[in-house]
Amino acid sequence: MDGGLTVSKVVSEMLEIANSSLPSSALLSKFVETIKGTFGIDDVKALSLSGSTGGQLDEYVSNTKKPYIDNQLSEFSAFPELIQYRNSGYLSCAVIPVSANGKVILTFKALSKEENKFNEELVGMLSLVSSIFSFSFAYKEEFGKNLRLAEYFDASFFASPIPQFIISKDNRVVRENKESAKAFGLSGSDTKSAIGLDYEALKAASAYGKAITKFVGREGPGELYSFAPKKMGDSLLHVAATNVTGKRLYEGILGMLGKSNDVYIALIDESYSVKSYSYNLDSAFASQDGFRDGRKFTDILDEKSAETLREMMSRCADKPVFGDLSLALGAGKVPVHCVMSKVEAGYLIAASNMKAEEYANRAVQDMNDFIEGISEVAMKIDDQGFIKECNMPVEAVLGYAKEELVDKQLSSIYKDSSTLSRDVSYVYNGGKVDNSYVDLMRKDGTAVAATQTIRKFRSMENSDGYIVIFKELETKRRLDDLEDQLREKDVEVRKYKSASDLKSQFIDNMSHELKTPLTSIRGYSLFMYEGQGGELSEAQKDWLRIVIEESDRLLLIIQQVLDAAKLDANKIKLEPKEVDLKAMGENPSIKGLEEMARAKGLEFEWKADYDVPTIIADPNRVIQVFVNLIGNAIKFTEKGSVKVHISQRSRKFVECSVEDTGIGIADDDKRKLFKKFYQAQKKAQLVRQDGAGTGLGLAISKDIVKLHGGKIYFESKLGKGSTFAFTLPVNKKQK
Ligand code: ADP
Repeated sequence: MDGGLTVSKVVSEMLEIANSSLPSSALLSKFVETIKGTFGIDDVKALSLSGSTGGQLDEYVSNTKKPYIDNQLSEFSAFPELIQYRNSGYLSCAVIPVSANGKVILTFKALSKEENKFNEELVGMLSLVSSIFSFSFAYKEEFGKNLRLAEYFDASFFASPIPQFIISKDNRVVRENKESAKAFGLSGSDTKSAIGLDYEALKAASAYGKAITKFVGREGPGELYSFAPKKMGDSLLHVAATNVTGKRLYEGILGMLGKSNDVYIALIDESYSVKSYSYNLDSAFASQDGFRDGRKFTDILDEKSAETLREMMSRCADKPVFGDLSLALGAGKVPVHCVMSKVEAGYLIAASNMKAEEYANRAVQDMNDFIEGISEVAMKIDDQGFIKECNMPVEAVLGYAKEELVDKQLSSIYKDSSTLSRDVSYVYNGGKVDNSYVDLMRKDGTAVAATQTIRKFRSMENSDGYIVIFKELETKRRLDDLEDQLREKDVEVRKYKSASDLKSQFIDNMSHELKTPLTSIRGYSLFMYEGQGGELSEAQKDWLRIVIEESDRLLLIIQQVLDAAKLDANKIKLEPKEVDLKAMGENPSIKGLEEMARAKGLEFEWKADYDVPTIIADPNRVIQVFVNLIGNAIKFTEKGSVKVHISQRSRKFVECSVEDTGIGIADDDKRKLFKKFYQAQKKAQLVRQDGAGTGLGLAISKDIVKLHGGKIYFESKLGKGSTFAFTLPVNKKQK
């Protein structure tokens, strides 16, 4: 293919199409045909992107703004559309974006049944052609729009009952409709002298979106018109004029002053003639068919008020003046506060009903009372965010005195003031904020969780203000209080703990100090008893035996007190090992007890079931428990037996029980048995010579068993006997 020739041919063809007067849809199909014919492309699919979104491929191309080429369509092509083309028999595809003003307005897809059809040269030409096309296409679209706009404009311009004209930069009135010609006759004359306005003045007003109010009249004071200019392009202004003479002042002014029944507005000239007025003055100035000519504002004033008005006007030059008048309206006399300002069109009077003012004052007072009266924290904020008023609860909740907060920035009591700005801007834009969560800061810097409710209100000074009401989150505060209490308790606990540490340390030291001399006493007594210091009489031996026995008892007591104190202070650490409970009966301490029982004439049995497993426990501590229980059983049994039985209670626990046929325990005592220093017999006046103990044995046993993760319990019948039993886990877990 001859590139040069093709280019010039297709460009000239495209230009011809572009310059034709075809509508844009026909333009598109002509374009497609031309491409197909010129480049031998099998199919072209064009998709206008305005409105409809194409497939992924169109989206991709319109985003990258670059042609996309796939010269070997296959089922692995990147986009589903391409696989579809392949399935309809095409082998290569080029997607070309068509853009106008930097925006992709169209994509077209060229499809060929040949492989590798779209080489660089062809894609370049397609892009070139498409850009020629895009210009004409975009131009046609725009032109169509303008044409419609012009038609519309003409219709509304010429047929309008409102005077309208178009003025150009050089102060020429380019166009004027019938009404304008009738009212102002601008064509051919200069606008400055005709309506007192020129292009510059109107343009300035249009920049602010404002209308200019002017008296226009070829003779006399004339009529009052409001001119609303709008820019048309760079050098034209479209001006619509509304005759507002004798009518109510247009809504704009009312809107500005707040559309209130209690605000009266009138425009008068220097001879007090009323030119215009607000609707609530209808009863004074309007007849059935509108404005009554020649009415003077002084007509509705008594002599005194008329004098005030005259006096006000004489003072009114570059600043507004104030005065109090009394208006005679249909409903009677209305006392008003009044402000007069000189405007281009005359003197503007705005008067507000004093009663209404009082009412407003009262409303403000009511609001303040309301703020004062509610139990939540309430504040009045001005439009700058300063606190203007707040109530008593603020002192309890935030710890500030009321006066301290007034004139402070509201944001200063927030932990994070961004929540405030967010909520205020929401309210500012007309929303309502109810119970949004905030963290406030007390004077002392601590946080208070609260919710806030914000409303906008308009103050008497006509500026925006806000009412903010905070509700402290009660539950949150309770939680915080509880947390504080817990902290205090924790401190207390630590105090006690250190006290108890001190106690156990003391006991530890003391028992050591006691044990050492006691061991000596016992040892030397034993030497003497055995005759190593020389022969002793029977009586001397008897006394020494008592010394030795009492030393033993004292040593036991000291050991028990020490153990109890250590267990109390959590000072005892177990030393777990593998323990064979069956073999424990051979332990010397147990053997000693067995002898003691036999000596007392009691039957003694140590029985372990065959299936009792070895367990993990601290053997010395387990023996201590056995010694306590067996010792008690022997102590409190006069005849019969003491039987130890070890069995597997469950998969995880073994049970050891010590059964006796002794005196038993009264129901009253049962509950208190494991308490430290408790001795049932003492209470029952059954103190026995050999039975005196410390009342610590069971308490210590209970702690040791608990430490192993087991339980201790007993059954007993008064006069029949008791069974004490405890469990131990097979695999000890320290508690
Ligand atoms: P003690 O050093 O007094 O034996 P324990 O804590 O071992 O202290 O026992 C507390 C009390 O429980 C004993 O004084 C006794 O009244 C009662 N007690 C303990 N075991 C038995 C038992 N097997 N039979 C009757 N009473 C018992």
